[in-house]
Amino acid sequence: MFVIFGNPVNHSKSPLMHNYFFKKYGINECYGRYLLENGEEIIEKFKELNIKGANVTVPHKEWAFKLADEVRGIAKEIGAVNTLVKEGDKVIGYNTDALGFLEAIREFDYKKALIIGAGGTAKAISLVLKADIVNRSENRLKSFKNKNTFTWNNLDTFDYDLIINTTSAGLNDDNLPMPEDLLEKLFKNAKYAVDVIYKETPFLKLAKKFNLKTKDGLDMLVYQGILAMELFLDKKLNKKEVAKIYFEVLKLDKIF
Ligand code: NDP
Repeated sequence: MFVIFGNPVNHSKSPLMHNYFFKKYGINECYGRYLLENGEEIIEKFKELNIKGANVTVPHKEWAFKLADEVRGIAKEIGAVNTLVKEGDKVIGYNTDALGFLEAIREFDYKKALIIGAGGTAKAISLVLKADIVNRSENRLKSFKNKNTFTWNNLDTFDYDLIINTTSAGLNDDNLPMPEDLLEKLFKNAKYAVDVIYKETPFLKLAKKFNLKTKDGLDMLVYQGILAMELFLDKKLNKKEVAKIYFEVLKLDKIF
């Protein structure tokens, strides 16, 4: 038994993806949702439910990081855990978001990347990807110590070939993550545009007008899920083959 902890957790696609995978691979497991109101109880609940593993979504990733018996890999630098795995009587914390992002853009041939936004997702991605950062305001840029950082006002280079939107602009509105004229200047030179939001945002629509190759956040969602599944099962999976299964069920979910 596996679960995803979150609040809210109803919207999560993880149970759908992972249960479909279990069924296709003939694995006798199941994956549910757990609405957790108090993040401080996450490890206690994990042990109480007697589960083998869990994913963690907003707003509990920092609690999972703080409370896991041990944290391994990139999660230590990110300061957030999205995957918990039972190992003996310990609960081990990992983060598969950032590496899931890298896996999602594996086929892109880029030299210079720009991340728009300076929140948690930007921080995680910037740890695994060499990129400059641009944000609308200065405050959050301070935590990107070894990076070239800009605000909209002082961005002066436009020769990036990969542009990544990690802001929530376009999630529940029609906003672009930057003023349109600046984005147009960037898109004129770029080859790829990636959004971490799971749908075609105004950012991606504009990128398509400039004939860029685009990807929305679904790919990142799928690959962070596959990396978590490898940790759950403690074995390497054929990621391309498994990704097909995850995309298949997400497509069905869109139709019905
Ligand atoms: P944070 O709240 O940590 O950071 C938000 C960032 O976006 C800040 O830099 C903020 O700028 C900027 N921002 C917010 N609104 C706007 C706007 N209208 N215009 C310009 N900039 C804006 O968010 P997270 O990093 O946690 O999450 C960001 C997005 O990533 C969410 O949409 C979330 O759904 C998505 N996500 C997707 C995942 C996936 O698997 N695909 C995984 C994790 C997250 P400022 O500093 O000026 O406030």
